[in-house]
Amino acid sequence: MRRFLAAILPSLLIPVLAVGQSPHRVAIRAGKLIDGKSDKPMENALVLIEGDKIVSVTSGGSVPAGAEVIELSKATVLPGFMDVHTHVLLQGDVTAAEYDEQLLKQSIPYRAILAARNAEIALSHGFTGMRDLETEGAMYADVDVKTAINNGEVPGPHMQVATRAMTPTGMYPLLGYSWELKMPTGVQYVDGVEGARKAVREQAMYGADWIKYYSDRRYHFEADGVLHSMVNFTDEEAKAIVDEAHRLGKKVAAHAIGSDGIAAALRAGVDTIEHGDGLTDAEMGEMVRRGIYWVPTLTVGLYVAPGRGGNWQKMADLQRENFGKALKKGVKIALGTDAGGFDWKKVNQAMEFEYYVQYGMTPMQSIRTGTSVAAELLGWSDRAGTLEAGKWADLVAVSGDPLKDITELQKVKFVMKGGAVFKNELH
Ligand SMILES: [Zn+2]
Repeated sequence: MRRFLAAILPSLLIPVLAVGQSPHRVAIRAGKLIDGKSDKPMENALVLIEGDKIVSVTSGGSVPAGAEVIELSKATVLPGFMDVHTHVLLQGDVTAAEYDEQLLKQSIPYRAILAARNAEIALSHGFTGMRDLETEGAMYADVDVKTAINNGEVPGPHMQVATRAMTPTGMYPLLGYSWELKMPTGVQYVDGVEGARKAVREQAMYGADWIKYYSDRRYHFEADGVLHSMVNFTDEEAKAIVDEAHRLGKKVAAHAIGSDGIAAALRAGVDTIEHGDGLTDAEMGEMVRRGIYWVPTLTVGLYVAPGRGGNWQKMADLQRENFGKALKKGVKIALGTDAGGFDWKKVNQAMEFEYYVQYGMTPMQSIRTGTSVAAELLGWSDRAGTLEAGKWADLVAVSGDPLKDITELQKVKFVMKGGAVFKNELH
């Protein structure tokens, strides 16, 4: 069957393209353009788009005959934003009770409907790309959300998804209920080396683009002043997860908050460290050497700290200190918020850009974390993250200058994804 399709498809496709209309051409005039790569913005730029791709980006230049013109000459145009740590199937879980309630009282179809709504909220805030890092008990519904977006059934960002995430048995909620009850779990429980390999294969079979696992839990400060944690998997198990994922061409993200969990994830060979509050100097050095990304998720940390009490504020303070150190050392920092850990309706993911500036980045550095660096993490440098010929026509515009005021990125007025205008409040 496969061979038959391969043989017949080209002959079916060529005549369609030959007799079809030439692709829709759009010219965007941008007052200022930040391309996600250059150090300085371009003044009076002209972006030419054909179909879903950018054809050229020039300073000045004339609009070709027949092209539709979009006038953004008073605005600043940027690449569409990317958030590499989200949970579209979650609606905020400051407390454990909020989390349990979602898993116990909401069906997966209901959660998928909310996820589609969340994807639309993200797009309206300028996020044209997201890596969704596990469904929190909603099985493989993230794959369905991604498919519905790709088929044009609902609006949303380009997505990569991680499906179920993994911990060993008993190391992730729902916990604390009577043993007589079989409770749902927020992850897939995975035990042993063979179990780890099988779980990776299973998740890949159902559509996981990434494998995510929880490296640690129970974060606490000890007398040495370091944030420690309990490590979930044995080294053999974690290495099996990473090895099998890499063998199947998938990358691995590890939730790792305490220094012990981060160290274990680095030993296992993961590609990205999520949260990373307790990073030590040595761990940062290793991440620089091996090109491992740090996804700090400051928005969730700062949002949940007051509600959670305990160590969470102290952890946020430590993370601020570590952010400055990591920036100096040259750790690759990609923008991730943990949206879903906070309510999508209440907090705009673009606040993360503002926190990075507060923590020491220049506005331009901060913009790159959520454009070109995020695209690199996703393996999409050839198609997204910058405004250049050949890339997806994914772009946003704001009316002010984000290099002077980074909070402008929380007021996106124009969004185009794949050459189609999703939102325009600037005409
Ligand atoms: Zn998360």
